[in-house]
Amino acid sequence: MERTFAIIKPDAVERGLSGKIITKIEEAGFAIVGMKKIHLSRAQAEGFYYVHKERPFFNDLCSFMSRSPVIVLCLQKENAIADWRTLMGATNPANAEPGTIRKEFAKNIEENSSHGSDAPETAAFEIPYFFNSFELVG
Ligand code: UDP
Repeated sequence: MERTFAIIKPDAVERGLSGKIITKIEEAGFAIVGMKKIHLSRAQAEGFYYVHKERPFFNDLCSFMSRSPVIVLCLQKENAIADWRTLMGATNPANAEPGTIRKEFAKNIEENSSHGSDAPETAAFEIPYFFNSFELVG
């Protein structure tokens, strides 16, 4: 079993899409081992995305991620990291496959409704950035 870290981003929470996205997560066979709604501070968003700090979109991305609440999740299944990224679809919704979260719900390449860890080392940083051990069950 593998764990990954997911975010339902502000654009999706604002539009009342959290339930639809959580349904997709459960129907795809993920166990939700951690979940909470939080409002990131700008500093917390910057810390989370520090690997992108030199990228041109970093400032806008941190503003977006801290403008309203998000839902953070820890998801578990076999091959969870790759399978969650497949279910999300491509970063740019214009390139995302039909049926993916980003194809169905994303507004654009920035406001793309969801986040997922891209590798085991990333998940190992991201899960404890948001959850302590008592908040992960199952
Ligand atoms: N992003 C953006 N502009 C870009 C590329 C990415 O605003 O040109 C944002 C987008 O919200 C994306 C996040 O930065 O999800 C992280 O980018 P990454 O390339 O890691 O994509 P992801 O792993 O989320 O698909």
